This record gives sequence, structure tokens and C-alpha cells, in this order.
Amino acid sequence: MVCFDADPDCLDALHRLYHFLDGELTPETRQAIEAHLDACRPCLEAFDFEAELRRVIAAKCRDNVPHGLKERIAAAIDHDLAEGLQGS
Ligand SMILES: [Zn+2]
Repeated sequence: MVCFDADPDCLDALHRLYHFLDGELTPETRQAIEAHLDACRPCLEAFDFEAELRRVIAAKCRDNVPHGLKERIAAAIDHDLAEGLQGS
């Protein structure tokens, strides 16, 4: 569970984490995200979770990642995100 109550930057940072992990970001954006992760523990934990998840998926599935798995993960995280916003 990630808490977004305090810092609106977190929403932006988390949003871009997916692209960060996919290697789709420019070096500048990557630096900005890394700086945020250094300063923001909730985002860092979310990032670690995502990275670990991808390692597991890559190890188990190689280039045969089950279709829809990424979407299910994204949906679950979006759900947490929505709950965090509603609860604030
Ligand atoms: Zn954050």
C-alpha cells in the first residue's frame, strides 16, 4: 500500500515509474524520478515492489509474459491509488 496523502509529486512519480521500468524515459526524466525516489520512501517502496515483480516475471516467463498480467498489476495499483486519494 502506498500513501499519496502528503505529496502530489508522488502521483506523477508513480505514474512514470511504469515507463521508467520499461526504459521509455529520457535521461532527464529518469534523474528526476530517481531524485524523488531518494526523498520519498512510499514511492521507493512502490518502485522496489515493481522492480522485484518484473524480475520474477522475467525469470519465470522469459519472453512469454502472460497476457493481461501487466494490466492486472496496473489495475491493482490504480485501485490502491484511488483508495488513497479518497481516504485523504
Ligand atoms: Zn513520492
